[in-house]
Amino acid sequence: MISGIYIHIPFCSQNCKYCHFVTVPYDHKIIRKYQAGILKEITLYTEFLEERIQIDSIYFGGGTPSLLPGENLAEILNACRDHFNVSGDCEISLEANPDTLTDRKSSLYRKSGVNRISMGVQSFHDRELEVIGRLHTFDSILKSVKILRKKEFTNINLDLLLGIPLQTPGSWRENLRRVSETGFSHVSVYMLDLDEPCQLSAAVSDGSVSVPEDDTVAGLYLETIDILASYGYQQYEISNFAQTGRKCRHNLKYWRRKPVIGFGLASHSFDGYSRYANFRIMDQYFKALDESRLPIDWRKSLGKKEALAEMLFLGLRMNEGVQWDKLRHNYREDDLKDFENSLREFGDKGFVEWEGSTVRLTANGMLLSNEIFQQFV
Ligand code: SF4
Repeated sequence: MISGIYIHIPFCSQNCKYCHFVTVPYDHKIIRKYQAGILKEITLYTEFLEERIQIDSIYFGGGTPSLLPGENLAEILNACRDHFNVSGDCEISLEANPDTLTDRKSSLYRKSGVNRISMGVQSFHDRELEVIGRLHTFDSILKSVKILRKKEFTNINLDLLLGIPLQTPGSWRENLRRVSETGFSHVSVYMLDLDEPCQLSAAVSDGSVSVPEDDTVAGLYLETIDILASYGYQQYEISNFAQTGRKCRHNLKYWRRKPVIGFGLASHSFDGYSRYANFRIMDQYFKALDESRLPIDWRKSLGKKEALAEMLFLGLRMNEGVQWDKLRHNYREDDLKDFENSLREFGDKGFVEWEGSTVRLTANGMLLSNEIFQQFV
């Protein structure tokens, strides 16, 4: 079995106004304790395994993993290599905020084996960055890209946020132009989500801040697919675009339902049959480890029907779509019938397309993906 490893680093030095992730204020004293916790979790996870698990992707996500000093990150990676069979060409990604990348830290990350950086850029416009509470600026983005290039990082993703306050069609198109000029190898385009409570959703509700109209955002998303393609970035998932050979191996595992082992606060895991998650509260996480228990909060085994629903709503996220013939090998016609009928109906409305036995979302279907996926869960 080949797996990925996800390591959650929950610390942040700021509170972005649109954030609804599990984060913990950055404090250098807690970093060492947290790192020791991750090392213990790795030991507990592997101590009774009969054989070592093969690993071909490791992903540090957050929070802000680039707040982690290079030495701490190296120790975590060394523990992974000591307890798992980490392949020589393992993709090792680290999420980074532009204002946190120094020359020394980037050098240590590179030496420890990190070969992919995912930068939370969000926008190249200082006023837009300020209004959503980001600490970096246009200049600090360029400075950090320069540092990364000097350290021979060639595989760099950036996240962009569509639909934020002050954004205009012109400023968005300029963001896309900057992506190609700056030479990133991968782009993730996310739409601002104000459904969950956060500072920005409160400000939009009370009218003190406004965001672009939904129709404008939808039009810009469709335009983005074509503009990025013209710059050499092919869409391969609803939010993800890559130059040739630069798709994110780790994230493909989630959409293809491959195993991923999560370590750290609030991390999620999938072993091919069940999903489980770690505690979201730091005290509970440390208490379990102090008692030499894995800090697992809940676990859910997936029945055959639930696995099928996942195959559909995760597979349809990708441009490669879902192979219906393959499903027919594993499922009875009765299990598939309702799903197939729904997909045919969405096909009539132009949201889904069938090509032989492959079914996939159209660009308009990607815009409505949440509504379409509700049919499967
Ligand atoms: S850096 Fe990311 S995780 Fe941290 S507060 Fe901002 S959006 Fe949230």
